[in-house]
Amino acid sequence: RREPLGPGRLEPALWQVADVDAQMSELVQLLELSEDERRVRHLLVTLFQEVFTEFFPGCTIVPFGSSINGFDIHGCDLDLFLDLEPTKSLQASTRDAPGAGSGAEDSILSDIDLAATPAPEVLELVAAVLRRCVPGVRRVRAVPTARRPVVKFCHKQSGLAGDISVDNRLALLNTRFLQLCAEADERVRPLVYAVRLWAKQQGLAGNPSGGGPLLNNYALTLLVLFFLQTRSPPVLPTVTRLRDLAGDDDRVVVGGWDCSFPRDAASLEPSTNTESPCSLLAEFFRVFGDFDFAGQVISLREGRALPLPPPAAPEAGEELKLGPLNLQDPFELNHNVAANVNEKTASRFGRCCRDAAKYCRSLQYRRKSSKGRAWGLTRLFQPGAVEPGAAGAGAFVISIPLDVASEPQQLRREPGGHGPWFREVCAAITFVLRDVLKCDCAAGKPLSAPSEESELPGDSALSQEPDAEDSSAAEPPSVGSKRRLAEETNGAVLPDGKKPRTNVPEATANWSCAVWHRVWMGRRRVRRQLRHGDDPERSDGDSLEQKVSEAVVRQEGAGRPPEPLLRFEAGARVAGTRRETRATVSTEPRRCPEHQHCTGEPRPPSHEDLPNTGIVLANHVHRHQDL
Ligand code: ATP
Ligand code: MG
Repeated sequence: RREPLGPGRLEPALWQVADVDAQMSELVQLLELSEDERRVRHLLVTLFQEVFTEFFPGCTIVPFGSSINGFDIHGCDLDLFLDLEPTKSLQASTRDAPGAGSGAEDSILSDIDLAATPAPEVLELVAAVLRRCVPGVRRVRAVPTARRPVVKFCHKQSGLAGDISVDNRLALLNTRFLQLCAEADERVRPLVYAVRLWAKQQGLAGNPSGGGPLLNNYALTLLVLFFLQTRSPPVLPTVTRLRDLAGDDDRVVVGGWDCSFPRDAASLEPSTNTESPCSLLAEFFRVFGDFDFAGQVISLREGRALPLPPPAAPEAGEELKLGPLNLQDPFELNHNVAANVNEKTASRFGRCCRDAAKYCRSLQYRRKSSKGRAWGLTRLFQPGAVEPGAAGAGAFVISIPLDVASEPQQLRREPGGHGPWFREVCAAITFVLRDVLKCDCAAGKPLSAPSEESELPGDSALSQEPDAEDSSAAEPPSVGSKRRLAEETNGAVLPDGKKPRTNVPEATANWSCAVWHRVWMGRRRVRRQLRHGDDPERSDGDSLEQKVSEAVVRQEGAGRPPEPLLRFEAGARVAGTRRETRATVSTEPRRCPEHQHCTGEPRPPSHEDLPNTGIVLANHVHRHQDL
């Protein structure tokens, strides 16, 4: 079984391609199910069909959801619908005409009238068949209280997790609708995959079946489809338009809801919209960054946001349940698909969209980095990388991944409270700050923004202790550490829907820095001189960068200015899973009131950035007009 690819393993592939459009189509190829994986799913469906037919003659097992809607990823769950209507008809006809010999009388149904059995009992019956009669099926659990009751299961050999529902015919139709949209325009899939992974990485989307206040993949997909309906000219037609295009064979009403739309994407008019996937993604973030989620209803049926209160649908009995995010199902018009989303998630979604939109306006998004920096999608997928206090507010984030699987000892905690790898990361940061940038570094306080927004337990409890392990540093950073279920930081989920319980040590370190010299000016020339000239101090590697800074400071000639040019706080923290852990280094500007010209504004990267270090220097400190 292939696991969902984490961004750590996607990064190298995404880095290589030429531009963001290519990154987006590469993303789809990296994540989508392979032919072999599809075959396994098909075999499982056949197995289920055979077993269930034994017990429920005439029944059909129909897959739906991400296995077939065009938005599949490795390891996505297997959603199955068990259609018992034909069985009920068979039972009724046997009852009406005894001796008709339908087969139902020989099965477990000989004692049960399926049509009269309460839904929870039917579900238990399905669970019992799964538990006892389907080879390889484990961890069977009926969930009768869910909005759409299901029986959950895992399949041992394939490693797949799945759900069987008996009363979810609408999901078959909305699956077909998603499939139609995926086929209608080739930009749809890249956009949905990119938004889904971004949302997962920002902690906005979570385990759908686990409930909770996060968006599920269906809701996220509808947001993207709605956005594409609202482009000018539109990329996708509205659901009303689709209803008009439906042929006679396409007309269907389920549960009183009109679900008519063409089954074949070839019958749709091609879109005249020419926006690139890269621009559409940036626009998605811009549009939803400024969206009033609580004050209107997103209607895919009409392809526009409806003012509150929404008009009552003639079919609707109950009214749409309004909340902080109102996303009307395209068919079941009184169903708010995002009704589970709470205030906090809705406002975080808007904020994360704004930050992502801001990042998408930068050169770093559109232009491939020649210096090995995160660019395009790779940075968008870094957890929290574009949140306030990090890159979005004129700061920068460096993400340093560790392949925990091959180097587990790197996380083994030592007396200082964290593993050898994080100690090395801290030593390297201290080296860059103190020896290359020639900063004054003192122990700093934790950066504010990420923990303020965090959904994680105990963030505020991160302790502040001096780092005994870093006593070699002239000005040690303050380091806090504590154990916790670090998986929660990126929402890793096991096939059974549970979070894996592993103790990846959480560690933080903070530096408070003052920059005194323009060590980024003219480095290339000085470096060339040191490398090739007859300078007696000629050297290579790390010490070369240190010597370049010293030479630049000497050239400045004026000695130390009375006040630092800039001040900033830097912080590093480790978070991740057993498979994928990373240290994130971020910075936050500190205002220096004595300098009137501080604008606090970030600026786009330029030639002043430190060459070869991957550091955009003046982008992570507030700017003086004279810099
Ligand atoms: P994934 O399993 O990869 O998260 P998915 O699309 O299969 O994606 P599920 O949560 O497994 O998502 O749901 C399966 C299907 O059930 C969806 O594709 C959709 O058709 C339907 N569905 C899920 N959530 C809702 C909802 N809130 N309202 C209506 N239909 C839903
Ligand atoms: Mg699913």
